Amino acid sequence: MKPFTLPPLGLRAGLLLAVLTAVLAPALLWLLAALLPSEALGNASASWRAAVLLMVVVQGVAAAMLVLHLLSRRLEEPLARLVEQMHALAALRAESTRPPPDPVPELAPLACALDALRRRMRQLQGELQAGKARLRKATMYDAVTGLPNRALLQELFGHEAAAARRQARSLALLRIGLDRLHTVSDTLGHHVGEELVTGMAHRLAATLRDSDFICRGADDEFLVLLAGPVGWDRVASAAERLLRCVEEPLQLPRSSQVLGASASVGIAMYPGDGGDFEGLARAASLALQRSRTLGRGLYSFYQPGLDQALRERIDAERELAHALEHDEFTLHYQPMVDAGSGRIVGCEALLRWQHPRRGLLAPAEFIDTARQCRLMADIDAWVLEAACGEFAHWLGHGLAPGRMALNLSVQQARNPALSEALRDSLERHCLVPAMLELEITEDAFLDDPEGMPRALARWRTLGLGLTVDDFGVGYSSLSQLRRLRPQRLKIDCSLVRGLPHDAEDCALAQAMLAMAAALGIEVLAEGVETRAQEQWLLAQGCRLQQGHLHGAPMPAAAFAARLGASAREDAPA
Ligand code: C2E
Ligand code: MG
Ligand code: MG
Repeated sequence: MKPFTLPPLGLRAGLLLAVLTAVLAPALLWLLAALLPSEALGNASASWRAAVLLMVVVQGVAAAMLVLHLLSRRLEEPLARLVEQMHALAALRAESTRPPPDPVPELAPLACALDALRRRMRQLQGELQAGKARLRKATMYDAVTGLPNRALLQELFGHEAAAARRQARSLALLRIGLDRLHTVSDTLGHHVGEELVTGMAHRLAATLRDSDFICRGADDEFLVLLAGPVGWDRVASAAERLLRCVEEPLQLPRSSQVLGASASVGIAMYPGDGGDFEGLARAASLALQRSRTLGRGLYSFYQPGLDQALRERIDAERELAHALEHDEFTLHYQPMVDAGSGRIVGCEALLRWQHPRRGLLAPAEFIDTARQCRLMADIDAWVLEAACGEFAHWLGHGLAPGRMALNLSVQQARNPALSEALRDSLERHCLVPAMLELEITEDAFLDDPEGMPRALARWRTLGLGLTVDDFGVGYSSLSQLRRLRPQRLKIDCSLVRGLPHDAEDCALAQAMLAMAAALGIEVLAEGVETRAQEQWLLAQGCRLQQGHLHGAPMPAAAFAARLGASAREDAPA
């Protein structure tokens, strides 16, 4: 729209002169006509009258123009202001416009409407600002903890990195991974997991300096950017402080629980370990994974070469997932015998992977990877189902397999859903619980001294047997055994290997047998390979044995044949 403008000054002066002339000229003529005698005018009177009439018309027009001019002068200033306001509104400057002048009555409704428009626009601008602030919070802050998110840290990193480059100094990016957050969420509920993360977020933030930044990087991960001058010692002591603060028990206000936690930290230095945020975050992630594989509560600095190790692990994980999907796992069964009579009293189901290229693989080659990538629970579920199915099949064919032992990973043992899965499998395959026993390694009890007794209580109510596996290589104490009261202990292969020549191994085995007898716990010796080992153990009263001497782990069909053969031997002639 074209803005309203006043006519130029020359035009206005000309207009005024014309009006004055128009008003004064007829007045002079009238005066002349009145003063001169009428005969002096003579024939000219008619032309005078015509001229005067013309003058009067001209004067009328001039007067009208004058009125119009005065009127336009009156409206000119307020109209210009209103137009100015409209332009300001169009340019979204609701605040910056001058207030309207005292409105002339003709323009009052327009001024009023404009004012309402300006107020509405100011209100909409306020709402827009608030919306923008909310949007920024949603896109830049984590909804659960209230901490900045990765995107905001990345933005901050840009500024910090530029400053660090100018001043030729380093920055450190720390990746903090909370251990077992998924287990907490799975067992105690998602809301408890969120409370734990929030509590830890506040605690970590309080541990840092004002110049440092922390954000939530992922579900169970925080990222910390140490700005300011950072040397290795400052980074290491910050990592140590962060790790220790996580380990303090945390009181969760809403769920009224006190939880202990632990974390691992991976550290990457800018610019050495990565020239941009993504590269640095990746290096810190590799370092974090290294910390996790070394144990809990540790920090590691990034080292070149970790990339290759990680790539290999990712490939292995992919292969494992593929193996589960394509039924490449199988179970082998190893007999457990009463060495006194030679009879099979049960078997242990042992996992194997029929790898398409590498052949038959034992658990040592893949179980650690499966544990680390959280596929272990799925594999355990597969083992439970396959073993129960096989056992029911043998029973259906009139065989007497005794009882079957299953190995459980620590994660699976702690999972409360396991009881339900066990009950379900037993029911579906029409098995009684006493036919199954679960083997948990000695270390699992040390690993989770609070959770394991609860898990055991759940299995006991189901009527399942419990065996402590690999006994003698960990640090189980007598008091722990008294508390757990397993049905059976398995003396580890490594101890049996020294029998009967190694005096120390013999003394240890004897002590274990005496201790178990005092607590009423049965003992089975694993890894029995020689007649001498068998006889020494028998002499100590250890009849339950398992090992290559009595039979190596074998496919299901071979074990069924062995059961059939021993049933025929036992049958009266
Ligand atoms: P484990 O439960 O202690 O199993 C006994 C291991 O000793 C088996 O190794 C078995 O093949 C081996 N063994 C048996 N007799 C002898 C012998 O006379 N001499 C020697 N040197 N070794 C003998 P395997 O099958 O390689 O299993 C290794 C470990 O993997 C098992 O130790 C168990 O902790 C774990 N594992 C096996 N199957 C499963 C499974 O289905 N689930 C889980 N979570 N872990 C499993
Ligand atoms: Mg075992
Ligand atoms: Mg064992």
